Amino acid sequence: MAPSAEYRSGGPRYLSSRIDDLPGFAFAFDIDGVLLRSSGIIAGAPEALALLHRNNIPFILLTNGGGKHESARVHELSKKLGVPITEENFVQSHTPFKELVEGSEAIEGLKDKTVLVTGGDGDKCRKVAEMYGFKNVVIPGDILMEYPTIWPFNQIFSDYYHKSTRPLPRQVDPTNPSTSLKIDAIFVFNDPRDWALDSQIILDLLLSKDGVIGTYSEKNGDPTLPNNGWQQDNQPALFFSNPDLFWATSYHLPRLGQGGFQASLQGVWDATTNNATLSRTVIGKPFAHTYRYAERVLNKHRAQLLGESIRGASELRRVFMVGDNPESDIRGANEYDSPNGTEWTSVLVSKTGVYRAGMEPKYKPQVIVDDVLAAVKWALKEEGWDWVE
Ligand SMILES: [Mg+2]
Repeated sequence: MAPSAEYRSGGPRYLSSRIDDLPGFAFAFDIDGVLLRSSGIIAGAPEALALLHRNNIPFILLTNGGGKHESARVHELSKKLGVPITEENFVQSHTPFKELVEGSEAIEGLKDKTVLVTGGDGDKCRKVAEMYGFKNVVIPGDILMEYPTIWPFNQIFSDYYHKSTRPLPRQVDPTNPSTSLKIDAIFVFNDPRDWALDSQIILDLLLSKDGVIGTYSEKNGDPTLPNNGWQQDNQPALFFSNPDLFWATSYHLPRLGQGGFQASLQGVWDATTNNATLSRTVIGKPFAHTYRYAERVLNKHRAQLLGESIRGASELRRVFMVGDNPESDIRGANEYDSPNGTEWTSVLVSKTGVYRAGMEPKYKPQVIVDDVLAAVKWALKEEGWDWVE
């Protein structure tokens, strides 16, 4: 077949008989175990992304990682991977929390409310939340520094907290709840560093009246109420950004992730309430909320990338989700039901991440390939585009 276009030499070239068509497909790449491992570059990743970039094939990076603002992360990633990555094609675990600043018809915006943010180094996640537009952000360390008795074993972390805490916007005065510090929502943005303090303060809030620190709801344990009275007294909503129980680090065995903290808090909750239901919202892969959000970001990015030419062009027909984790990347892509009818195809890499060739994946992908470069080659072939070295 005669090539209809040829691109500059250097790096892989790309020729296609359908080059005049707009790609009706796009990619979503997980980062850890697909593009990077312990912040080192995985072989073939820069080539794969460069090829897509050069050919205007849209892609986003979709990760359960976080802890830094998107602007800082895309700057690092662009440098490492050698292609421009911007906030327009990057979604990390806590990015969808942005939507809660202004809220929606269904959910009241939290912009002017007081929110508790936990997780991450120092108060980096507070700063991320502020950049999203939340105006009143408290971290557990703020409360500890003013009220050290709230968790008696924390002197050991005083130096750590000194560097990143701020005065509280209101005093804690349970005898006068109307003027006391009241938390309207709790966000676990990233893996907590101090599980003990964070567990205690989150539990306090879940047991409080109206989210006022230091109060205890009289409804707790009342058998005449739904859920035996637990979480029935206007306590703050609880959000987690990432359900991963384990993640791959430079240690040879997987380490506990934010999902480990969630399971630990659940255990404390169960023991405290005699197994009442714990209401909370969990986002991140594999949950549909994150895939729906990512698809919106991808469609917007695609429209910008393809510009005027997209007018009258078909909708995004297919997304290839390339990941290393069957329980998040693959499960999420398999189970997600796009409101736009976009098909998500799951592609599992077997040599660079959590999943290793030979294991039986708990959630089966549409295809297993060696690495990200092989994934892109496979997908392009599926779509009838040719790769020429
Ligand atoms: Mg991964």
